Amino acid sequence: MKVGVIGAGQLGRMIALAGIPLDIQFCFLDPAPNSPAGQFCEHILSPFDDLDGLTHLVKSCDVVTYEFENVPVEAAEFLAQRVTLSPPPNALAVAQDRLSEKTLFVQQGMEVPPFRKVDTLEELESAVKDLGLPAVLKTRRMGYDGKGQAVLRSPEDVETAWEQLQGVPLILEGFVHFERELSLIGVRDADGNTVFYPLVQNTHREGILRLTLAPAPNVSSSLQESAEKLMKGLMDTLNYVGVLTVELFEVGGKLLANEMAPRVHNSGHWTIEGAETSQFENHLRAICGLPLGGTAVRGSIAMLNLIGEAPAHSDVMTFPETHLHLYGKSPRPGRKIGHITLLATDDRERAERVRRLERLIGV
Ligand code: AMP
Repeated sequence: MKVGVIGAGQLGRMIALAGIPLDIQFCFLDPAPNSPAGQFCEHILSPFDDLDGLTHLVKSCDVVTYEFENVPVEAAEFLAQRVTLSPPPNALAVAQDRLSEKTLFVQQGMEVPPFRKVDTLEELESAVKDLGLPAVLKTRRMGYDGKGQAVLRSPEDVETAWEQLQGVPLILEGFVHFERELSLIGVRDADGNTVFYPLVQNTHREGILRLTLAPAPNVSSSLQESAEKLMKGLMDTLNYVGVLTVELFEVGGKLLANEMAPRVHNSGHWTIEGAETSQFENHLRAICGLPLGGTAVRGSIAMLNLIGEAPAHSDVMTFPETHLHLYGKSPRPGRKIGHITLLATDDRERAERVRRLERLIGV
C-alpha cells in the first residue's frame, strides 16, 4: 500500500512514522525542499495545484490524503476524480470557509458562537450592533494559529479592524468568555464505523497551541457522549473518512463549536505514546480500509509544544516518562519545531510534572 500525502510538514512526518511499521509506503507532495516528511520519504517537489505533480502522485499511490486544510479545492477535486482521496473534498471545502463551517455546525444541531457574514463596512457596523462588543473579526479563509483576526473591544476598534482585514470575505463572531478550550478528535472509516478520543483541554498563547491535557480534567461522561454524538452526525453528513478534529469552547457546561480541521491535529499528538492507537495510525487505518484501532488512554497525559527553539535534549531526556519529538525544522520565533509528551498516573501528578517540565525547559 502506498499513501500519497499533500503537504510534507510535521503532521505528514508523524503520519509516515506511524505507517512505516505497518509497511505502508509514502509519497509526499510539497513545494518546500527539505520538509519534515520529505527528509526521509519520497517527495514530489511541486506546487499544490500543479497538475503534473498531482498526476505523478495519482500514478504512484493507492490512496491520497492531506495534512493541512488549505489544499486548493480544485486540486482536491482533480485528485478525487482519479484516485481515492480521503477525507473527501467537500469536507475540505467546508473547513476552508468559516461561514460554511459554522452554517454546517448549526444544521447539525451544534451550538456555535453567534456570528454574522461581513463583506462591507456597513455589514460590519450592523453586525457589531447585533452581536455587541467585544467581538472577533476573522477572515473567512486561510486563517490559522490566530492569524487573520482582530478582537474588537471598543467602537473605535471597528474601523481599525476593518482597515486591517478588509478586501477578503470576513465573519464577525461574538466574543466568547469561555472557561476553557477543548477539542475532540474522531475517526471514521468508509463503512461508517467511528472511534473517538477523549475530549482534551488546550491552552493557547499568542494564538498558538502550547499545552494539551488528555483527557481534559473534569469532563462528565454525558458531555463526552453528547460531543461524540454531534461529531458522528457531522462525519456521517460529510461521508467523512479519516481523522476529523473539532475545536470547542466550554462555557457554562455547554460546548460551542469554533472550527473543524479535516486532518490529524496538534491537540492529538499525545496519542502517539498516550493512547492505544495514535491519531496518525488511526487516520491511516481509516483511509487504507484497515480496522480502526482502540482509543483507550494510558493514564493522564500532557503534550507541550516547542515553539521557536528546542530546549537542551539532555534536559528533556532525563525527565522520566517523557518523549521528545523534533520535526527537523530550523528554529524561528513562533514556529512549531517539536513537542514533548509527558505521561503521568493521575491528573495531580500530571499537573505537578507539567510545572516542573515547564520550568526545566523555560516556557
Ligand atoms: P481560531 O483561528 O478560530 O481557532 O482562533 C484562534 C484562537 O482565538 C482560539 O483558539 C481562541 O483562543 C480565540 N478565539 C477565536 N474565536 C473566538 C471567539 N469567538 N471568542 C473568544 N475567543 C476566540
